[in-house]
Amino acid sequence: MSEQRLFFALWPDPVTRQQLVRLRADIPGIRGRPTHPEDLHVTLVFLGAVDPDRRGCAERAADSVTGPGFDLPIDRIGHWPRPRILWCGCEQTPAPLLGLVSALRRSLLGCGFEPERRRYAAHVTLARNARPVAVGVPPRALNWTVRDYVLAASRLDRGPPHYQVLRRWPLAPASAAGS
Ligand code: ATP
Ligand code: MG
Repeated sequence: MSEQRLFFALWPDPVTRQQLVRLRADIPGIRGRPTHPEDLHVTLVFLGAVDPDRRGCAERAADSVTGPGFDLPIDRIGHWPRPRILWCGCEQTPAPLLGLVSALRRSLLGCGFEPERRRYAAHVTLARNARPVAVGVPPRALNWTVRDYVLAASRLDRGPPHYQVLRRWPLAPASAAGS
């Protein structure tokens, strides 16, 4: 097998997935192309096209990353006009999430990926080709308890679902980190 399009991400458990679907359903006047429920996720680090050697390197890099689990409040709806994406995310990015992203970015440097210079913006894409409706506080906020993260692949020729979870890394129990 040759190159795959890969990214590290947070993948919701079934209950959180249902809550995200309900949050979206509660948005009045939402249009556009909804993300398939199985595709809902938060990207941590985007890798792009990766050959098997570099995939191995990326997985070893993730093996060396540790961090505590955390709560991710989903308390914000936003819209990016250029990709026309309606998303939900958090008002304040939790420190353990920022820590996880920087640890991953740092450990991936050794694999020769293009370093990401943009500020991290945690979000779940709810719909594409969407208009800026209901931007602000969602009618029904939710709490996502994050216990692990994944390596996922895009299958842009197929689906939906378009994404496939390849591997999972557990985060430490939140209590072990004193939070
Ligand atoms: P398409 O590109 O056809 O719209 P997609 O964006 O769903 O499909 P990918 O481009 O493979 O699929 O992206 C996978 C994930 O990585 C998505 O969450 C996407 O938002 C994110 N992503 C894609 N490109 C970048 C990038 N350059 N920087 C950061 N994140 C990215
Ligand atoms: Mg894309």
